[in-house]
Amino acid sequence: MNAKGVLSLLVLSVASTLIATGCNRATSDTHISIYYAHDMTADIRGDAQVELASPKGIRVIIDVAIPAVISKPPTREDILLTTHTDYDHYSYSFASAFPGKQLCKEEGRIDASDVMVSSIPSSHSDEPPSDKPPYTNIIYVIDINGLRVAHFGDTRQLKLTEKQIKELGKVDIAFMNFWGEEERFFIHVKQLKPRVVIPTHLGSGDTNMKAAFGMIMETWPTYMVEEKQVDLSSSALPRKTSFLLVGERTKEYSRTFSIPKWKTR
Ligand SMILES: [Zn+2]
Repeated sequence: MNAKGVLSLLVLSVASTLIATGCNRATSDTHISIYYAHDMTADIRGDAQVELASPKGIRVIIDVAIPAVISKPPTREDILLTTHTDYDHYSYSFASAFPGKQLCKEEGRIDASDVMVSSIPSSHSDEPPSDKPPYTNIIYVIDINGLRVAHFGDTRQLKLTEKQIKELGKVDIAFMNFWGEEERFFIHVKQLKPRVVIPTHLGSGDTNMKAAFGMIMETWPTYMVEEKQVDLSSSALPRKTSFLLVGERTKEYSRTFSIPKWKTR
């Protein structure tokens, strides 16, 4: 082969590598599964407990307070994340016997197949977040094959800091603690602008929480899935921030509000 032939072969192989990596990522479609089950007899315990499953089958389990409602027993391939150790986000017996990798209210990074977890310290109170450990809450960022999910645990500082916003970047799906705290919650959503917000800590939907929820419905498109499991694909997520209620807790809200069903587009 002459020099020209070698060169064109080189160009061709670089181009195909780009298509296989960078270029492919921009157009690829990532499907993830979300499992959000509740113990309806518990008050707020387990209201932030969710499970994500990546396309390659890596399961990320977050804030397990009620092990009895997880979808299946944990394995060595699973990842457990605990944003903080309050009783409604944590089970000592589950966490200490967990066979896989885990981060418990701590900074760190976990790489596993098509999943990468990173961490951002935040504040559990209206104080700004501390700049050194111990932290009162950790926001976990879970990157799944180009799709970015964030779980806020109980982030209750009044505003997100510039540093947090920068580190969070473009979030596709955010699990954010609602608590009916209209001012703080609305500020966080407007600062972050995720494509989908799945509110946690909906509680039993008392009058105050429902009043705040009514304002969400006036401000953002809101949908619901009553089942415990929903599959989302990155290409079908809405461009503008929308709310998605998932699981049995949704039923309480749908008694008061007419919430359209989420359509997997
Ligand atoms: Zn909580």
